[in-house]
Amino acid sequence: MKDAVNDVDRPLDRPVRYLTPHPATWKNYSCCPWAKTIVAIDPETDSLVCCPVTCKRWGCPYCAARKIRKLAFLTNGAAPNRWIRLGVDPALYSGPREAWEKTSQQVPECCRLLRKMRTCEIEYLRVTELHQSGFPHYHALLRSGFIPQKQLSDTWARLTGAPVVWISKIDSTFSSFRYLVKYLTKLHKIEWTDRHVSYSKQFFREEDKEKLAFPEREITTRSDEHPWVWLLNRYANDEIGVDDNGCYHLPYDYCGTPGMYTRQDVGLPALKTEEKSTAVNRVQQQLLDESHGPDPRPQRAGYYEEGY
Ligand SMILES: [Zn+2]
Repeated sequence: MKDAVNDVDRPLDRPVRYLTPHPATWKNYSCCPWAKTIVAIDPETDSLVCCPVTCKRWGCPYCAARKIRKLAFLTNGAAPNRWIRLGVDPALYSGPREAWEKTSQQVPECCRLLRKMRTCEIEYLRVTELHQSGFPHYHALLRSGFIPQKQLSDTWARLTGAPVVWISKIDSTFSSFRYLVKYLTKLHKIEWTDRHVSYSKQFFREEDKEKLAFPEREITTRSDEHPWVWLLNRYANDEIGVDDNGCYHLPYDYCGTPGMYTRQDVGLPALKTEEKSTAVNRVQQQLLDESHGPDPRPQRAGYYEEGY
């Protein structure tokens, strides 16, 4: 797990020196194309850093790779001991999207019911996977006490009409880290959701989450510009260090009139794609919210699930 931790976090003490991303050199850099900019005072070095605020969508290859690394690190720390596969019956829905909307919310409900019946800890991380037909099914890693296959199968069937469930104990040779990476990396963009992964509140260890958290920083500037454009328009002739987090360490506080470079000048795609995808996401969110509707089951508020 050393790799995952080192890859994901913590600025280097002395960042490698690079020239500001310039039209001639932008290919040497990688960054989320849809990132925005904040400038903050780094508490560890007390210096100004320009940080990309990345889009964090699964549809963004840069962000997806980082999300997978973080999830893999957190999941290994969570020490799951079972994995299950929850089926979906395509015959019951008009299409894959309806199937996902109706069944994905039953995963936390299924765990809540089992928790009540088994009176043991049941925490989970679930990943959506698509069949060739486009219909979803779910894989979940559990940290739980014993659950009889039949009880799990019956509970899932009661909630979704699909009784086919597979459960397996994780032994010492099983690497949840590799398992998760395997499933997530073969996951293609799902048209109707960006919530490919969700997990129960207690699944990850607090101390692991803390390791991945950014230290609190005092923000001095926010900009909708991409960090490369922001930097190039202010520090075109300076050497800017970039750390492992992709944050640029500024040599001085800029004052003056920024240049006129554009996204195209640093090789970034035009913003139209982002606007379109944000609009789609908004519609999806709305649909999802409406599909949940007023909830007749009072306990539903009692569980908690986070998306990823
Ligand atoms: Zn991104």
